[in-house]
Amino acid sequence: QAKTLGRGRYEFFDVELRERMQRRLRLEQDLRAGVHNGQLWPAYQPVVDIATKRIIAVEALLRWDHPAHGPVSPTEFISLAEESDLINTIGAHVLTTTVHEVSGWRAKHGVELDLEVNLSVRQLEDPGLVPAVSEVLRITGLPPKSLCLEVTESALMRDPAAASGVLQELRDLGARLAIDDFGTGYSSLAQLRKLPLDMLKIDQTFVAELGTSPDAAAIVASIIAMAHAVDLTVIAEGVETSRQLEILASLECDQAQGYYFGKPGSAAALLRLIGPDQRWAPGSC
Ligand code: C2E
Ligand code: MG
Ligand code: MG
Ligand code: MG
Repeated sequence: QAKTLGRGRYEFFDVELRERMQRRLRLEQDLRAGVHNGQLWPAYQPVVDIATKRIIAVEALLRWDHPAHGPVSPTEFISLAEESDLINTIGAHVLTTTVHEVSGWRAKHGVELDLEVNLSVRQLEDPGLVPAVSEVLRITGLPPKSLCLEVTESALMRDPAAASGVLQELRDLGARLAIDDFGTGYSSLAQLRKLPLDMLKIDQTFVAELGTSPDAAAIVASIIAMAHAVDLTVIAEGVETSRQLEILASLECDQAQGYYFGKPGSAAALLRLIGPDQRWAPGSC
């Protein structure tokens, strides 16, 4: 089809492609520098226990403030980092920074939160990962079960057999493991059972349609039932309305996170959200 558009079109595509590649290359160099210049910082989003409305955990979500372009989305810069070893440098940075920060809150503010950290599947191939997790837990004294490492379903299912060895080693350290963005990657109950997992996070695309689509409610109900059948704790992502929360509660979902409870923000903003007994205080964000 492109052929009929003539030679000029080819050149147009070449230019566009070259510009895209140049932008990526520049961004990668900037990212490399940014890691060392303190431009990357973890935002924290609260995770709430649905039954008690207590904030029981935070998910660390990495932010990059580019000096010229402003905030760059993690979906863009993480995928960029995954094309090289840079993801391992970034991953190690996020892990140590956040474990230190969250364990510091215990000592300074008496706030006991679990910490969820996203892992790229490339980090599972890094021989330095398990020693790094072990070391930061030892140094900070954070109880290992308070650290939950998340890997997306689609990444896991590309090679579940290869992943399961490292996942088991992480679990042997006492850390917990979550399958993230669940529902988008076609894994079966049989495959899930074989992986050493503790938590399952329902992808936000299903949660977004709760209350408007009966299909979405049926899918979420069956994911929760399936997860509970194999003893996984279920977290719903992307909860934005009280209606969605009500439905999730009626389906016996365990935990929830989303803009309804709080957007990812700085450590200070997160600490402001927390009321007495770590109850979620609506409207304080
Ligand atoms: P994720 O782990 O599934 O994180 C949830 C995403 O949903 C976050 O996007 C969060 O800001 C967003 N979110 C939370 N609540 C709501 C809501 O109520 N409505 C909507 N529309 N969105 C909500 P974010 O921060 O842009 O991160 C995107 C993805 O980038 C993450 O998805 C994760 O896969 C990846 N990522 C972020 N930080 C890291 C990191 O440190 N390491 C790795 N490997 N990946 C990371
Ligand atoms: Mg996640
Ligand atoms: Mg997710
Ligand atoms: Mg995601």
